[in-house]
Amino acid sequence: VKTESAGSQTSIKVIVRIRPQNQNEMQSNYKTVVKVVDDKMLIFDPKEEQNPFFYHGVAQKGRDLLKKQNKELQFIFDKIFDVTSDNNDVFEGSTKDLICNLLDGYNCSVFAYGATGAGKTHTMLGNGDDPGITYRTVAELFSEIEKQSEQREFNLGVTYLEIYNENVQDLLHKSGPLHLRDDGRCGVIVAGLKIITIQNAEELLTLLAKGNKNRTQHPTDANEESSRSHAVFQVYINITNRLDGQVRQVKLSMIDLAGSERASATGCKGARFKEGANINKSLLALGNCINKLADGAKHITYRDSKLTRLLKDSLGGNCQTVMIANITSSSFSYEDTYNTLRYANRAKKI
Ligand code: ADP
Ligand code: MG
Repeated sequence: VKTESAGSQTSIKVIVRIRPQNQNEMQSNYKTVVKVVDDKMLIFDPKEEQNPFFYHGVAQKGRDLLKKQNKELQFIFDKIFDVTSDNNDVFEGSTKDLICNLLDGYNCSVFAYGATGAGKTHTMLGNGDDPGITYRTVAELFSEIEKQSEQREFNLGVTYLEIYNENVQDLLHKSGPLHLRDDGRCGVIVAGLKIITIQNAEELLTLLAKGNKNRTQHPTDANEESSRSHAVFQVYINITNRLDGQVRQVKLSMIDLAGSERASATGCKGARFKEGANINKSLLALGNCINKLADGAKHITYRDSKLTRLLKDSLGGNCQTVMIANITSSSFSYEDTYNTLRYANRAKKI
């Protein structure tokens, strides 16, 4: 959905990805609480088709009167990927389209949102058999650059950093905590962050692997530490027009967000997120920024967190944003799934 106002164009695409249930969820007595209707609609906590407590309209013995009503909530998103989708499907249906916009001069941001264990890292990084969308998007970028190389020259640099407890750390280069600086001309920069030039997508795989080893905890561990850090991967592209020598810079940001389990949303669209104990400051601020952007607000506050300050030039304005909300269908994660769907729903444009 695109809306235009006073020359600026913001686009937010909200996508939901449902991961397959793991062994633990399948072996236990958990129910499925997400029913996919089609590739845009799902029902959360659907009514059970056969109500075991009734028989020909007569209440059966043993009915649990305290049992809560099913919520039966219908959600509509730009796209829903069910358990049968792999990372290539997600790439094709989410970030592939960003590349043209990026090369036309729009900064683009991609977020993986969701509770710990919901599939964020799988979506962004993937594994050897099924590389994540970060690699796939950059590979597509290189292939598009190749096609345009007669008219324009491209130079690519990448950075990979982590925000943990509001501290910024370079993942590609051992350093102390880095500081954000407002550089009047270039916007917000991370002082001392190393930009590494790459020539092809394979070099990126090596860098991603290296960066992940440096994360506060290995990102596939579902532990406290890793689930509370944001991994921010950015590609800076300098585009030189061979005809007139004009140079412009665009940026692609791909972010594996901290686990959302502490950031529960309150109420309806537009309301501020409730600040609980220990809530992740950057996740909270991002939610508020995106809600405001989705609502078409003119004044957006970016200075509330490191993440939003860093992405100030990549959210709103002439930017394209893709939010991938990761969930699991098991009733074991009922609250997380419910909260993630509500967060994603609030990120949609109205
Ligand atoms: P998160 O980063 O959100 O904490 P992960 O991406 O680490 O979650 O996923 C948790 C576990 O589930 C991992 O073992 C991962 O390999 C697996 N997983 C997640 N999504 C999928 C998927 N779409 N298909 C298969 N396995 C998945
Ligand atoms: Mg992870």
